[in-house]
Amino acid sequence: MKNLKTCNGKIICPWCNGNGLIYKAIIKGLERILFVCNECEATWESYETIEVDTRIDLRTYLESSGVKYDEVSSLDKDYNWINDLELKVNENYYDCPLLNIMIWLGDCYDINAVRHVMVKKSILKALEEELSVPISIETAEKICVECKYSF
Ligand SMILES: [Zn+2]
Repeated sequence: MKNLKTCNGKIICPWCNGNGLIYKAIIKGLERILFVCNECEATWESYETIEVDTRIDLRTYLESSGVKYDEVSSLDKDYNWINDLELKVNENYYDCPLLNIMIWLGDCYDINAVRHVMVKKSILKALEEELSVPISIETAEKICVECKYSF
């Protein structure tokens, strides 16, 4: 994902360099998201690894995963995935004053759902592990009340 060029908000394939655009597709039967060039079919499993060196071939990838190549052409192709990504980075993550780290708004929602006794406190266990920070609802009672992100 280093120095990717864009054209009208779409990502230009670094492999065929300027000829193709990279779309995001969910591969049926594989239940996987792939990032694929519409010209040369260079493929990546994650947007984070989109670079010349890390390219894999779509047909080879699919056939080694037991999915028929011909079934893929009918897939929904999303060319605007980078917009969703930027939105995610800009709007759906924020600096949480309770935990003092960047968190996703869904995690904030979970914490506050516990605070409002809408869900069981046990859901925080998984979140604490994921974020590697302790979450105190007692502290949240003071901090989250003042926070513009929480509810
Ligand atoms: Zn390409």
